[in-house]
Amino acid sequence: MIVFDLSCSAHGHRFEGWFGSSEDFANQQARGLVTCPQCGSADVLKAPMAPAVPRKGNQQPSRPTEPIAGPETSVPAVPSQMVTNAPMPPEAVKMMQALAKMQTEALKSSRWVGGKFAEESRAMHYGESEAEPIHGEATLDEARALLEEGVEVAPLPFPVVPPGKAN
Ligand SMILES: [Zn+2]
Repeated sequence: MIVFDLSCSAHGHRFEGWFGSSEDFANQQARGLVTCPQCGSADVLKAPMAPAVPRKGNQQPSRPTEPIAGPETSVPAVPSQMVTNAPMPPEAVKMMQALAKMQTEALKSSRWVGGKFAEESRAMHYGESEAEPIHGEATLDEARALLEEGVEVAPLPFPVVPPGKAN
């Protein structure tokens, strides 16, 4: 038997796995049989060996040292919000707050249509319904299709809490 330090690439959870051999591990990994005990992700990799770190030290959450872009992780998903942990200059913070406020103001006169955004925009574009400002959710594909049809849509710079989900 052989023990491997493993980590899931999604969250960097560290755990140990026992295998008959390296081939055994590679085989099970390829078939998605090796899963993270904490989140169940099958996207599991051998963690970088750190023999100097005592086992008990593995309690803290650790991150993989470099992002791994496997074929599984390159599946187009819902675009995530841009985030940063870099300190922002006060002017930038002020600007962001002003922008966020502008968006809030603009959306006051706009109707939330949720997941029916594409449908509603299209209906207005083709004159099937009264034109009015709306905002809602659309997938990247939907937004692209709308633009191709000449329907003017724009992504909102700030996330919007859908009505009814605020609490
Ligand atoms: Zn995990």
